[in-house]
Amino acid sequence: MQNDISDEMLDLIPLETRFDDRAALAAHVANLSNLTPPAEPSPIIGGRAAAVSMLAAINPVQYSATRNHLDGAVTRLSAYIRHGVLTLDEVRNHALDTVTTPKQAEKFIQELAWRDYWQRLYTASPDAIWVDIEAYKTGFVASDYADDLPADIARGETGVACIDAFINMLLETGYLHNHARMYVAAYVVHWRQIKWQTGAKWFLQNLIDGDPASNNLSWQWIASTFANKPYFFNLENVARYAGPNINVSVTDNLPLAHSYERLAELLFPNLPSAAVS
Ligand SMILES: Cc1cc2nc3c(=O)[nH]c(=O)nc-3n(C[C@H](O)[C@H](O)[C@H](O)COP(=O)(O)OP(=O)(O)OC[C@H]3O[C@@H](n4cnc5c(N)ncnc54)[C@H](O)[C@@H]3O)c2cc1C
Repeated sequence: MQNDISDEMLDLIPLETRFDDRAALAAHVANLSNLTPPAEPSPIIGGRAAAVSMLAAINPVQYSATRNHLDGAVTRLSAYIRHGVLTLDEVRNHALDTVTTPKQAEKFIQELAWRDYWQRLYTASPDAIWVDIEAYKTGFVASDYADDLPADIARGETGVACIDAFINMLLETGYLHNHARMYVAAYVVHWRQIKWQTGAKWFLQNLIDGDPASNNLSWQWIASTFANKPYFFNLENVARYAGPNINVSVTDNLPLAHSYERLAELLFPNLPSAAVS
């Protein structure tokens, strides 16, 4: 395979690996990447020691009861799993060690299984990852969806308060809770009618756990190209799960402030509403 980086170029790039502290590392990366750094680096700390201490803190019983809530007991292990710092095996085995009966860890292990399943699909068909697996079931065809991500979405300035809060979390931390990923992805594809591939690419550029299999297949599930109906939500649902720090006032989130029946009419006007409910 041809390597685009010549030995000469490698000599010019100081691949330092040791730093006095995290601030020095952050400054080095900001300098290398030639981008305006965020005010603070992501709170996700790299390395095996951090991963092991996060793993020690998981609580599969509380996870099962609260995982859909943004302030619920999710583990935030995704970056470590994604980058091979923790294996799925050791996470599953540790989860089983913390409970009295395996049933108590079932919900958590099911989520690990989703990751495993997406990886196996990707391994079996690596070229298919960017292609619609099926047609959209939204009453629209793929060419009805835009190719480009509007700047207001990329900057977290859509004017829909909760969506902007989630996008800003993504930009500032490189992490989003699963439910917030679902809300943002559905907003991009169904409210703004943008191709899932465009949103998926943007997520991969910003998530520290960014993974083509988990990410793209989840976007396809939201879009309905890998599900039998589109995923969408309303403001009432966000209010139930978002926790106290997210602005869920009606006036600041008007496009979401409808019943599911009304949203189905607005978002999927070519379909009978029973098709998506
Ligand atoms: C639109 C969208 C994009 C996503 N993109 C990614 C991505 O790029 N990388 C990624 O790792 N996950 C992705 N996910 C899946 C899921 O949102 C994250 O794995 C999870 O939120 C990570 O947080 P956590 O470690 O606290 O998860 P927890 O809820 O604590 O789960 C533990 C582990 O199980 C696995 N897991 C949990 N939920 C899922 C799921 N739905 N699908 C696959 N694996 C899961 C992850 O490895 C996770 O670390 C995406 C989901 C959606 C809806």
